[in-house]
Amino acid sequence: MNKKKVIISACLLGHVCRYDGKTKKTTEVLDAFKDYEIIPFCPEAPLFGTPRQRISVVEVDGKNKIITDETKEDVTKLLEDEINSFIDKNKDFDKIVLKSKSPSCGVQTTPILNDKKEIIYYGNGIAGEIFLKRYPNINIYDEHKIFKIV
Ligand code: SF4
Repeated sequence: MNKKKVIISACLLGHVCRYDGKTKKTTEVLDAFKDYEIIPFCPEAPLFGTPRQRISVVEVDGKNKIITDETKEDVTKLLEDEINSFIDKNKDFDKIVLKSKSPSCGVQTTPILNDKKEIIYYGNGIAGEIFLKRYPNINIYDEHKIFKIV
């Protein structure tokens, strides 16, 4: 029988792909999906390397943009292209589990900042937003919420 497939943020799997050169390995996630075929997902590391400067979601003229913290570059389009390219190559999956609070992977947990770097609300990272739009009928979980439904 074919295994079900789950896309999981790569840092939760133990990949060393975080901006600070660390991982966020989460054994609860690995245990919960031990019977699944796992598809690792990280849009930032292939584009910007590891370690790298932090990025943030910043509301600019009513739209959420991804801006680098130090050099203030707008990397929104780069990330959009990377995420859509990943999805185009990995169309066949059953669930998605994403890392909390990340400007890329967060779902309803990512700080959305104004131009003074103040938090104006908590929303979606850019990948969370794209997955939600492209897959309205697929279950997308925050890392902390999977334990209830697996
Ligand atoms: Fe990569 Fe997402 Fe983990 Fe950030 S939260 S390191 S973008 S997988």
